[in-house]
Amino acid sequence: MKVPYGYLSRQFSNPTPILDQIKELVSEGDFTLGKKLEKFENEFSNFIGSKYAIGVGSGTDALFLSLKALGIGDGKGYKKDEVITTANTFVATVGSIETAGARTRFVDCNEKYVMDVNKVEEAITEKTKAIMPVHYSGQPVEMDKLLKIANKYNLYIIEDACCAIDAEVDGKRCGTIGITGAFSLHPQKNLNVWSDGGVIVTNDSKMKEKLHLLRNHGMKDRDHYAFYAYNSRLDPLQAIVGSHLLPDVKWITNKRIEIAQKIDKGLEDLKEYIQIPNRPLNERRVYHMYMLLVQDRDKLYNYLLKNGVDAKIHYPIPLHLQEASKHLNYQEGDFPTAEYQAKNIISLPAHQHLTDEEVDYTIEMVRKFYL
Ligand SMILES: *Cc1c(COP(=O)(O)O)cnc(C)c1O
Repeated sequence: MKVPYGYLSRQFSNPTPILDQIKELVSEGDFTLGKKLEKFENEFSNFIGSKYAIGVGSGTDALFLSLKALGIGDGKGYKKDEVITTANTFVATVGSIETAGARTRFVDCNEKYVMDVNKVEEAITEKTKAIMPVHYSGQPVEMDKLLKIANKYNLYIIEDACCAIDAEVDGKRCGTIGITGAFSLHPQKNLNVWSDGGVIVTNDSKMKEKLHLLRNHGMKDRDHYAFYAYNSRLDPLQAIVGSHLLPDVKWITNKRIEIAQKIDKGLEDLKEYIQIPNRPLNERRVYHMYMLLVQDRDKLYNYLLKNGVDAKIHYPIPLHLQEASKHLNYQEGDFPTAEYQAKNIISLPAHQHLTDEEVDYTIEMVRKFYL
């Protein structure tokens, strides 16, 4: 049996309804901004529960433009602004901070693979401007504690919710807790369009106005430019795909949660070899990735591949040890939990298009490797 990690061919086996709407767009010629984008933005903010949603070019741009809108990265030299985030995340989190002109301060993660909020306070300096928690793999960060710290030190929170659409913590929607929340519509995310795309959500009308200018050359109208800015608008064609798929997100996340629970249960007696993270009931994890800490990770990984289970490793080298982070002067041993996870973590296929047989087979292959 082959258990694929990807699912695009299954998801888009019948693209006709989407293509029909794209034909309509072609007849209208509304190829930048326009009604289709506005429609999608309204639907997205309704779904997330934010006042505003701003469609941009990618999840990376959603983070970058959020920083720019707050003036973070404007400090130069010894006054360089600092942003706190975690060492185990997708490269784009740190890329957005560094390209905005700020300096990244890492903190370690916890056993749920996300920011250890108890480590944040000691990383704050007089140059810290913001905290960028990552709801990594769809696992919410403990936002209540983080909000208290942010309020105490007067810091912004920009949520990297790029892989956490429909996630919640203490009844609050991920992405709506900070000043802005960034979402990705990348083909591998739980709400996925046909190319790059991203959305920023906010409840702050000033931020919304600033972000509208930032994504569109600083244009107040055709002939008036408030300041020089960027071109990062969500493509209306992708907005059409997004509008078509948004009603599926609940089903997608519920199905992923169901599959994750099934795998948890199927492996829970292998405590000697597999560490399943704590799953508190006040957190709605959406399992953009289903990850486990396992013994003999590399051997298990190769065994699964050989037996048709398309496992992945996210990610073998944490960000503070990347060549790109050389100027930040971190070294091995600085973030022991993130480093341990990079060496021992594995992602199993757990997406919404798997059959029961494929999930059972995945569980069976992992069990067979250890027993
Ligand atoms: C996917 C992702 C991003 C970047 O999103 P893109 O749309 O690919 O630019 C940023 N942060 C995290 C945690 C992600 O998973």
